[in-house]
Amino acid sequence: MQKLETLNGFDKRQSVEVKVGKVGIGGANPVRVQSMTNTDTADVEGTVQQVKELYDAGSELVRFTVEKDAMAMAVPKIKQRLMEDGYDDVALIGDFHYNGHLLLEKFPEMAMALDKYRINPGNVGFGEKHDANFDTFVQFAVKYNKPVRIGVNGGSLDQGLLKKMIDDDMKLPENEQHGANRVFLDAMIASAIRSTNRALELGMRKDQIIISTKMSGVQEMVYCYSTLAKLTDQPLHLGLTEAGMGDKGIIASTSALSLLLNQGIGDTIRVSLTPEPGAPRSREVRISQQVLQSLGLRFFLPQVTACPGCGRTTSVTFQELAQETTEYLAKQMPQWKAQGYEGVESMHVAVMGCIVNGPGEAKDANIGISLPGSGENPAAPVFEDGKLVKTLQGPTMKQDFQKMVQAYVEKRYGQNKILATAK
Ligand code: SF4
Repeated sequence: MQKLETLNGFDKRQSVEVKVGKVGIGGANPVRVQSMTNTDTADVEGTVQQVKELYDAGSELVRFTVEKDAMAMAVPKIKQRLMEDGYDDVALIGDFHYNGHLLLEKFPEMAMALDKYRINPGNVGFGEKHDANFDTFVQFAVKYNKPVRIGVNGGSLDQGLLKKMIDDDMKLPENEQHGANRVFLDAMIASAIRSTNRALELGMRKDQIIISTKMSGVQEMVYCYSTLAKLTDQPLHLGLTEAGMGDKGIIASTSALSLLLNQGIGDTIRVSLTPEPGAPRSREVRISQQVLQSLGLRFFLPQVTACPGCGRTTSVTFQELAQETTEYLAKQMPQWKAQGYEGVESMHVAVMGCIVNGPGEAKDANIGISLPGSGENPAAPVFEDGKLVKTLQGPTMKQDFQKMVQAYVEKRYGQNKILATAK
């Protein structure tokens, strides 16, 4: 199996490649970004619109809830609409709990339309029913030749398994017991591994199984995935579940994902952010992308390096320029991508507040501007690839800088465009 080395020089964990629709996960593929809708799946139009929004933002796989007949009946229609509108690359995942085995039997068109099924081994029934329902679910995945994610979740861990593991731990001499918290985590891991082995016994191939063990604690998540990474070479889907809202949700998710990705662990990620009322669902996709880009694992959008500002920046010009440049890059990116400016997604633009660190950072960027701090000469040198190319000043400085960024993109990445066209 190919060993991957990231840009930061650390090795990515080796894993089997699983194909979900047209999207490869694990193996030599980059870490994939995925998300989940929050529409009623039975609402075909609303769900189609949100899948498009998520895909357009960069979500390569989109999952939706399938828990009622009306939702199952909507799935083939959603798929059809997406294909008619040219969205045939997005991989569609059905999220099943409790009755997945029944829905897959009752709605074969739904079963065929989906690219992957998610099963939570903690939510398939209790006792004997648990095993029978799990087996039936997996047998449908075999029948329709679809990959599955065995998605264990801390909030719905198989209670029978947990109880048995706690009882076993209690039987150990006191100084050898692991304690409830550790046993809980080990039960998450055991549930994932057992379910994977059972799915393999039932005829699934190794290249059809992805695993996740999601929970809401950062350290706990890191423990589970680090342990899983040593026990299996199935691709791992990372995510901190119930991450929460706003800063807390973003920071907790970023911490957990970064700690694991930085060890080369993780083949696909989802940021489970609770959106503020009215906020776009696609925010979680942008955060996933930003995590991967900040770690140097993938590039999606040119980045702005900006200093925080301090007592040397007495006007808001610097903050405005940093903000407007960030917005300008995001706005231009789809156009640059469509025009074939290959590599522009890894461009660095610096917007700096004064002479202290300004020229240094601006020289390190592809293109950078160092604004004058208070008391400095009101002129802003612009550097391209480390060389001073112009000094801007006056009221049109922001527009002039954007024009220079556009010209730089055409000059630097237009070369790649010509080469790509010539191939
Ligand atoms: S570059 Fe200048 S303005 Fe920016 S934080 Fe440093 S000292 Fe302050």
